[in-house]
Amino acid sequence: MKETIEELNKRLEELSKKCANLEKAVVSLVMIEFEDHEKKRSMIDDIRQMVRKTSKEKQAVIDAINALQKVCSHTRPDGKSALVDCGNDSHYSYEKCDICGRIERC
Ligand SMILES: [Zn+2]
Repeated sequence: MKETIEELNKRLEELSKKCANLEKAVVSLVMIEFEDHEKKRSMIDDIRQMVRKTSKEKQAVIDAINALQKVCSHTRPDGKSALVDCGNDSHYSYEKCDICGRIERC
């Protein structure tokens, strides 16, 4: 479970980076003067489509993480709670599950 979540988080980070890079590429392309306007537009459309596809993949990973966090009992194999203190703000303190990474307000 923990390994799966870690892998999903890694994948999420990669996809976020990819999305950001693709968006940067669109911005650069928009600024470049291009003789062939049709070609420029189709290149931008292609990249935008890749952004959409990557965003969908990202959402799928987020959904998978959420699903795993929902079924996690936040309990260690020895029956002890897997929740550990992870800080507080002026209103609440927070605990994070060592297994699934879910942060709970308490
Ligand atoms: Zn958990």
